[in-house]
Amino acid sequence: MKNLKDLHTGSACVWAGESRDPSHRATQAAVVHSVSFGYDDFDSWLDVAQGRAPGHIYGRNTNPTVEVFEEKIRFLEDAEAATSFATGMAAVSNTLLTLLSPNDRVVSIKDSYGGTSKVFLDILPRFKINVTLCDTTDHKEIELEIAKGCQIVYLESPTNPTLKVVDIERLARAAHDVGALVIVDNTFATPINQNPLALGADLVIHSATKYLGGHADALGGALCGPRDLVKKVFGWREITGATLGPMAAYLLLRGMKTLSLRVRHQNESAGRIAAYLNSHSAVSAVYYPGLDTHPGHEIAKKQMRGFGGMLSFELAGGFEAMKAFLPRLNLANLTANLGAVETIVGPPATTSHVECTPEERAKLGISEALVRYSVGIEDTEDLIADLEQALA
Ligand SMILES: *Cc1c(COP(=O)(O)O)cnc(C)c1O
Repeated sequence: MKNLKDLHTGSACVWAGESRDPSHRATQAAVVHSVSFGYDDFDSWLDVAQGRAPGHIYGRNTNPTVEVFEEKIRFLEDAEAATSFATGMAAVSNTLLTLLSPNDRVVSIKDSYGGTSKVFLDILPRFKINVTLCDTTDHKEIELEIAKGCQIVYLESPTNPTLKVVDIERLARAAHDVGALVIVDNTFATPINQNPLALGADLVIHSATKYLGGHADALGGALCGPRDLVKKVFGWREITGATLGPMAAYLLLRGMKTLSLRVRHQNESAGRIAAYLNSHSAVSAVYYPGLDTHPGHEIAKKQMRGFGGMLSFELAGGFEAMKAFLPRLNLANLTANLGAVETIVGPPATTSHVECTPEERAKLGISEALVRYSVGIEDTEDLIADLEQALA
C-alpha cells in the first residue's frame, strides 16, 4: 500500500485502497468472482478463518475487490473502518437493525430519503423500536426530542428532494449529551463536500449507487466509522447477507477515481443553474443550499466545502406545467436515481418518494409540482440552454 498521508482529496480518490496485485502486476483491482477461497493446509485455513491472518474465506463475508472499495471510502471519510452493502438501503437498514433493540428510541427528521422513512415508519415499529421524526429544520424541536433520551440520532443533509440543511455539529452535541450515536447519510454531499465524522457524527452512510459510483451502472452502500461499531454492523450483514458483489464493487471503484473531478464540476454547475432558475419567471421556487436566500445557507457554508450537484425547483404553472416540461428536456434522463454523469430529472412521486402515497408526500410538504434536478457533468452552458428552451 502506498503512503497516502497528506494527499488532497482528488489524489486520494485515485490512489486510496489501490495496491498492485502481486501475481499479475495488474495496476487495476482484480475483479475476483470466486465465491470461496481455498487453502493448502488446515492451519493456514484456520488462521484466516479465526482472523489471525489476513485473507478471505467465503464471498458473503469478504472479497478482495470489495475490500478495495471499502478502503477507498474509508480513506475519503477519514474513518477508522468501513464496510459495504449490496445497496444504500441495505447500509441504512443493516446499521439500524444492528444497533437498535426493542424499546430503544430513534430521533430523526421528516425529510430523510423515502426508503429510510419507510424503515422508520413501517419496519422499526414492528420490532417495538420507537421513532420520532422531527421537522427537519427546527433544530430546537430536534434538540428537545433528543434530550428526552434516545439511542440513535439519524440525520441526512442536504435532504432529498428539497435540499434542507441540518446542523450536524449542533445535533451531534445534543445526541452525545444523552449518550446517543449519531448516524449521517452523506449520499447527497459526498465526502468531497462534507465529512460528517469531522463534524461529530459517529457513523456515515452512503448510497454508493449515486455519486460514489457516478455512472448509474452499479448499486452499492457503505458504512464508515469507528472499528468496533463497523465490525458489529459487518457481523450482522455477514449473516443477513446484503453483501456487495465484486463486479459492482469494481464499477463503483472505477467511478470513485473521478469523484472529486465530477463533484467539483457539479458543485459549480449547480450553483450557476440555481441562480439561472431563480431569476426565471416560469419558476416559482428554487431549493439549493448554495443560494444565499436558502434558509440553510449559513449552516451549509459552515459544514460543507461545496453545495453539491442536487437542486430542486417548482414551476409556476404547477403539476400540469411540470408534466409538460419534463419531456421537453433533451439533456436529462427522466428517471429515478441521482448523482450520475448524465443530468437526471424527475418529480418526487417517481423518484425520491416513490415509496410514499400522495398523502404522505403532502404531509412531508413535498409539492407534486416539484422538479428534482441532479446536475450531470455536461457543460453548464448546454444545460442552461436546455432548461431555457424547455421552460419557454
Ligand atoms: C438512493 C439513496 C439511498 C438508498 O440507496 P440505494 O442504493 O438506492 O439503496 C439512501 N439515501 C439517500 C440519500 C439516497 O439518495
